[in-house]
Parts: sequence; structure tokens; C-alpha cells
Amino acid sequence: MSSTPHRRHAEVSGAGFAGLTASIALARQGWTVRVHERAEVLREQGAGIVLWQNSLRVLDAFGLIDEINEGSMTPPFYETRMQNSIVSDEAMPDIWWRTMTRPFLHSVLANAARREGVEILTGSTVAGATEQGTLWLEDGTEFEADLIIGADGVGSPVRDSLGIEFDRQTSRDGISRFLVPRKKAELQAIEPDTDWDNMIDFWNLEPRVLRVLYTPANENELYIALMAPSDDPDGSAVPIDLELWKSIHPQLAPVLDEAAKVEGKYYGYQTTRLEQWTKGRVALVGDSAHAMCPALAQGGGCAIMNAYTVAQAASESDIAGIPAALVEWERVERPITDRCQDRSQEYANTRGMAYGNQFTGDVNETTLYDPTNSHRHDAVV
Ligand SMILES: Cc1cc2nc3c(=O)[nH]c(=O)nc-3n(C[C@H](O)[C@H](O)[C@H](O)COP(=O)(O)OP(=O)(O)OC[C@H]3O[C@@H](n4cnc5c(N)ncnc54)[C@H](O)[C@@H]3O)c2cc1C
Repeated sequence: MSSTPHRRHAEVSGAGFAGLTASIALARQGWTVRVHERAEVLREQGAGIVLWQNSLRVLDAFGLIDEINEGSMTPPFYETRMQNSIVSDEAMPDIWWRTMTRPFLHSVLANAARREGVEILTGSTVAGATEQGTLWLEDGTEFEADLIIGADGVGSPVRDSLGIEFDRQTSRDGISRFLVPRKKAELQAIEPDTDWDNMIDFWNLEPRVLRVLYTPANENELYIALMAPSDDPDGSAVPIDLELWKSIHPQLAPVLDEAAKVEGKYYGYQTTRLEQWTKGRVALVGDSAHAMCPALAQGGGCAIMNAYTVAQAASESDIAGIPAALVEWERVERPITDRCQDRSQEYANTRGMAYGNQFTGDVNETTLYDPTNSHRHDAVV
């Protein structure tokens, strides 16, 4: 690494999983980092999340795994059911994965960022950035930086201000997500033969497409996601149509009753593909660069791994070389995320997760990727 005349400085737009991860990684490499979050309060409002080992390795590199383990779990089996008949039921012992709530993961990352000295400004709405390294807010305030990270989600103002073109594809299905109490004893009483610690993907394709993804997030909280096509007004309704969902899965009544108490939001699946992830001193990571369908549960995982690797790439460069370092970062890191987006969209289009565990073979390449291994590209030409 070459010597630098001053501490390198980064401005980050967005304090989601991508922005916080990039901030921690940069601060740990000696950068000063300021994060702008448009929300007035720093928190993640979503329900649950599954993390696989590609992102868990990043959290491990940050020294956060003990904390993560305390508030998360690994369900003993990943079960898939079709019309309530078990199609597959696997322990996946060779894969490191954890389920948790989003607010929990977000608080672990936000606390780590603060410990690393990252300055987090809430109520700070970014309007755009220049490739020369100026970030500006909606109120006109400008900040200069050696590196700008656009981690401001699918509607990224940083991406759009730079005129980076993108293609967005929507899929026919969407999902509503809820965090509810586990109600394990009640579920056990209704269906005693089921292990209610398992992650269970309940699919129904006939007479209509309705899917319940049941994911225990910790001892007390259940992440329940209800999928239906966007053109099904009852299946996609929020608050949920309780009678409809209970008629399909009466054994889930205790937790569906809880989900019905939450207003909820129905999200349509989408994939965003950019012509380029970087421009000058700006790099885009997370959903601003590569939003994907949730079939493989890798949108957040790819956000975390790409946020980590872009920070490493920028840190290994001198200030003048940052734009070229970002281009090279995209060249080597992007293909695996592109393939993950393609697979996730394919599964969303075909509803292929309905036919049993798909976490095998090539599908696992993202999961098994280790962004913290400095030799990971030794074989890449
Ligand atoms: C149904 C569903 C299920 C999913 N399940 C999983 C899963 O199990 N595992 C997984 O890994 N991924 C999953 N994902 C994907 C994952 O949720 C996203 O990929 C991830 O949250 C993206 O993080 P991010 O930080 O890039 O974006 P975001 O979470 O969108 O964060 C962007 C941040 O930027 C802020 N912001 C926006 N505009 C501005 C602005 N102008 N100025 C300042 N701040 C701004 C926002 O307030 C927000 O805090 C799922 C997605 C969906 C839709």
C-alpha cells in the first residue's frame, strides 16, 4: 500500500446492511466515514432474514459472530412441503447459515459502526453525487470525499444522479413479511409431529398459488412470509386476508392470527441490473446496484459481501487510483452476483423452490463464496 497524505475519507449514502457494512470495513482500514440516512431514526423496519456463510464470514471478520449467535439461530432442518406433503427435509450440515430478525442484524451492524468511529447522520437525505467525489443533500449541503458509496436501496439517488442506466424486471409474485411471537406450544398442540424449530416452506400451487415461508428467527420470534401473485387481490392483501390463509393452512392459525394484527406491506419481486456499478469515485452496492428476487435469500448477503470487498479494494489503492480500483473490483466481484441474480429470478419465474431443497451444486456458489479470503481470485483469469 502506498503512503497517503491524509486520512482517506468516505461519504456513504444509506445506513442499511450495505451502507453499514461498507462503513465498518472502511473505518477498520483507517478511513474516516460519514453515513447519511434519510430516516429520522436509525433502524431496520423489516421482519426476518436468512444469512448464509458468504455474509457470515464478513461478520466474522468484523468480530461480530458471538453477538450474532446470541440473537439468531440455525433451524435444525430446512423443510419444503407441497400441498402440506413433505417434499424434502434436510439438515444442510455442510452450510453455515443463520436466521434472525432484521432489526437485530441492523442493530449489531449499527453498534459496530459506532464503535469503529463512523459518523452516522440521520434525517440526512442524499440527493446525488458526482464521479469526482462530491455528495450533496436535498438541502444543498455538499461533502467532498475520496470515495462515495451509494448504498441507498432500489431507488438510489446516487445511482440516478450519475445517469447510470439500468434494467428492472418485475416478477409475477410478491410477498408480505411479518415478525410474530413463535407460539410454539400452540403449534405443537395442533400438529405434534412437526418440529416447529424447522424452517418450513409451505407451497400450494393448486387451486391457487399461495406460499407460507415459516422461519424461526430466535427462541421467541417467528419470521413469517406470505407469497401470492400480484394479480391475486386476496392473496396479496395487507392486512392479510386471515380466513383465506387459515383455510389453506389451519395448522398455522396461531401465528397467522398474529400476522393479521400487523398492517404489513406487500413487496413485488424485482431484479435490477446496472450497466456499471461504479463511476469515478462512486461505487454502488446492495439493492442500489443489484436488487434481486428473494428466492435464494441472497440480496442482503450479496449486499454485505460486496460492501466488504469494495472497501478492501479501495483501501488497497492510493487516492489517485481509487476510480481504477473500483473498476477492477467490479470486474472481479460482479459476475458471481450477476449469476445469483439470474438464478434467483429464474426460481421466481418458475417457482422452482416448490420442488424441494434447491441449495445444492452450483446454486450454492454464492453461499460458499468467501469474500474475506484474499486468495479467492487466484484462479480467475
Ligand atoms: C421478500 C424479501 C425477502 C428477502 N429475504 C432475504 C434474506 O432472507 N436474505 C438476504 O440476504 N436478503 C433477503 N432479501 C434482500 C434484502 O432484504 C436486501 O437485498 C437488502 O436489505 C438490501 O440492503 P441495502 O442496504 O442495499 O438496501 P436497503 O435495505 O434498502 O437500505 C437502503 C438505506 O438507504 C436509505 N436511503 C434511501 N434513500 C436515501 C437517501 N436519499 N438519502 C439517505 N439515505 C437513503 C434507506 O432509508 C435505507 O436505510 C429479501 C428481500 C425481499 C424483498
